[in-house]
Amino acid sequence: MGTVKVHDKTFEIYITEAEIQQRVKEIAEQINKDYAGKRPLFIAILNGSFMFAADLFKHLRIEAELCFIKLASYKGMKSSGKVVTSIGLEEDLFGKEVIIVEDIVDTGKTLHNFLPKLMHQQPKSMKITALLHKSAATEYPLTLDYVGFDIPNKFVVGYGLDYDGLGRNLKEIYQVI
Ligand code: 5GP
Repeated sequence: MGTVKVHDKTFEIYITEAEIQQRVKEIAEQINKDYAGKRPLFIAILNGSFMFAADLFKHLRIEAELCFIKLASYKGMKSSGKVVTSIGLEEDLFGKEVIIVEDIVDTGKTLHNFLPKLMHQQPKSMKITALLHKSAATEYPLTLDYVGFDIPNKFVVGYGLDYDGLGRNLKEIYQVI
């Protein structure tokens, strides 16, 4: 019951469904306070954040908009590495209060590379909520405004997060053994 097998790996339960739900509710309540009288636009990053975004949204009592985008990385012309671009962002961010919804921040590279592209549209404000943060793995500076759980640098699945396509449906978060 406490372990699951996904592909070739075994995972043990690390954060229970009740713990996740409680923490998500607390984050939503904080956002309700911080954004009282405002109308933030939540930009949830697919695929991993779909469950977190859905549960978070259910607890919001403020007016709020939500859209989902997908990040795609491709090799740039220079050898300097990958360039991140987004698919599905139709909203104009100018003057908006934006909250990015991410499942997990590991090295911080993805958001560090992507945020300047959003800032280019001149939103009024930009904050980040991440359910999980591997703070010990940070390589790229990033300010996370609402964090669910700070976790060790071990691979996790469940609650939207996958291992090679599987495991997203698990209600709990599991850590590789
Ligand atoms: P970063 O750019 O912060 O290093 O990595 C962020 C992305 O890496 C996440 O959005 C997620 O797709 C993936 N990732 C990092 N750690 C994990 C993990 O433990 N489990 C899963 N399933 N994905 C992870």
